[in-house]
Formats: sequence, C-alpha cells, structure tokens
Amino acid sequence: MATIPTGVLGATGRMGATVCAAVHDDPSLELVAAVDPAAGSSDLRGAIGLDCDVPLDSSVDAMATRGAEVVVDFTTHDASMANLPLLAGAGIHAVVGTTGFSEDDLDLLRSAFTNSNALVAANFAIGAVLMMRFAEIASPWFDSAEVIELHHENKIDSPSGTAMTTVERMASASTDWTPDPTQSETIQGARGSEGPAGIRVHSVRMRGLVAHQEVLFGGEGQTLSIRHDSIDRTSFMPGVVLAAQRVPELPGITIGLDSLLGL
Ligand code: NAP
Repeated sequence: MATIPTGVLGATGRMGATVCAAVHDDPSLELVAAVDPAAGSSDLRGAIGLDCDVPLDSSVDAMATRGAEVVVDFTTHDASMANLPLLAGAGIHAVVGTTGFSEDDLDLLRSAFTNSNALVAANFAIGAVLMMRFAEIASPWFDSAEVIELHHENKIDSPSGTAMTTVERMASASTDWTPDPTQSETIQGARGSEGPAGIRVHSVRMRGLVAHQEVLFGGEGQTLSIRHDSIDRTSFMPGVVLAAQRVPELPGITIGLDSLLGL
C-alpha cells in the first residue's frame, strides 16, 4: 500500500509532538518533515525523543522540499494564517487543528486552497464530534442551555474552538431559549459570556485538565448533560490520522470531521 508523505507543523508543541508520533506509527502515513520555529535539535529524536531520523526544520518551506503531500498544523492562529496560504501555494493538502479562526479567516483559506485541500476541525476527538452533533439534535427540545468548557492551564484562547462551534450549531438548531434572568452580578462574569442566541459559555482553566466540555440542557422537570472528556492528547489522533488519509480526496475546504464520520 502506498503511504502518504506527511509533514507536521509545530512539531515540538504539545499537540505537534503527539501528531508526529501518531503519523510515525500509522502504516498509511509516512512522516517526512517536521517544522517548528524553535528547531534547536537536528532531528525529532533529539527534539521530542521520537525514534526516527526526520530532521527538524525551522521554515515551512521544508514541507515542499522534503516532499510532504499532507501537512498537519496544530500551532497558533497567527502561525496558521501565515503558513497555510504558503502550503496551498505549494499544492500541499492541510489538516488544521489550530483553533481561533474567524469567518473572515476561513474565507481567506477558501480562496487560497484551490489547487489543494484543507480540512479544518476545532476538535479531532471523535467523541467530541459526536457530543457536538448530539447537542445540536437536543437543542430544539429544551428551553435553556449552557456550555462549560474546561482546559489545561496553558491554553491561551477562550472560549475553546469546540465551545464556539458547539454554541453556533446549537443556535442554528434553535433560537428559542429562555432569557437569562440575572439582574445583578456581584462578581462580573459570574454568568459566563453570552454566545450566539444568548447561550452562555463558561471557560475553566486548570492544571491537571486536558480538554473537557459539558453541555447542559434544561426543560420542564428535566435536565440533560452531554459530557466529553479528552483525558490524553492521544484522543485526538484517530481523527487526525483519518483526516490526513482522506483530505487529498476532499476538494476545497472541509470544516469539521462530521462528513468523514457519516454524520
Ligand atoms: P503549543 O504546545 O503551544 O504548541 C504550539 C506549537 O506551534 C509550538 O511548538 C510553537 O513553537 C509552534 N509554532 C508557533 N509558531 C509557529 C510557526 N510559525 N510555524 C510552525 N510552528 C509554530 O500548543 P498546543 O497545546 O499544542 O495547541 C496548538 C493548537 O492546537 C492550539 O490552537 C490549540 O487550541 C489547538 N488544539 C486543537 C485541538 C483539536 O482537536 N482541533 C486539540 C488540542 C489543541 P514555539 O513554542 O517555538 O513558539
């Protein structure tokens, strides 16, 4: 079976290092390039202890010179917006896990990826993809809903991309939510932030967490809680590998893993 030459951007980051290991271990993919601006070591063995000789480069140009056909990007919003058009220009497909893109950013990516494809997903954990779909299905049947997302202490953006996507999908499924009764807040922000359709979102940042989310629904005499926990970064890897395998055959920009899961 032919393998897909794959590169990883942000290769020494928390997610990037996990992606390097997953790509290296998957028989359908071949890890050929790794890029990180902090490239101090000569290869991934020295940088992240991975048992392979793939060099660690500091420039995204290495993706083309080392023959990557698919690049996985888990970096920062600004890095992604700088690097993704360059990958598109080189005809390289992208699997994008970086969060924080606006609609304008996605439009820019749509116009850039004309000769190659990109799959952008706020969450690659298959359980989280199902959680978002279940929340969307439940929305028309309840009067109130709030989203609580909980992440590790180093996450710099809030709310999470998953929380934003969840709330946007819930708001598309129903705009008929009971108004917030709060008339005063002793501590500002106690009721979280108001997202689309007035649905409240709460962000928790705490050591010991990875990525978690609870969607709470309330109706007459009943509540429904839908919770997903990524307890290890490996939870994202089956989704990342699936996206890397499939992105070459998905024209233009694909948002989310749903279509790959038949949802
Ligand atoms: P992280 O540990 O800070 O890793 C980010 C990495 O990107 C760092 O190694 C950083 O290098 C590197 N980087 C920065 N600028 C770059 C550039 N211009 N070119 C190449 N690499 C660059 O963060 P993380 O926890 O891995 O998270 C990364 C992103 O993934 C975040 O946006 C997070 O929200 C997202 N995420 C998404 C999912 C999902 O399922 N979609 C799951 C988890 C996380 P330096 O340290 O040298 O700056």
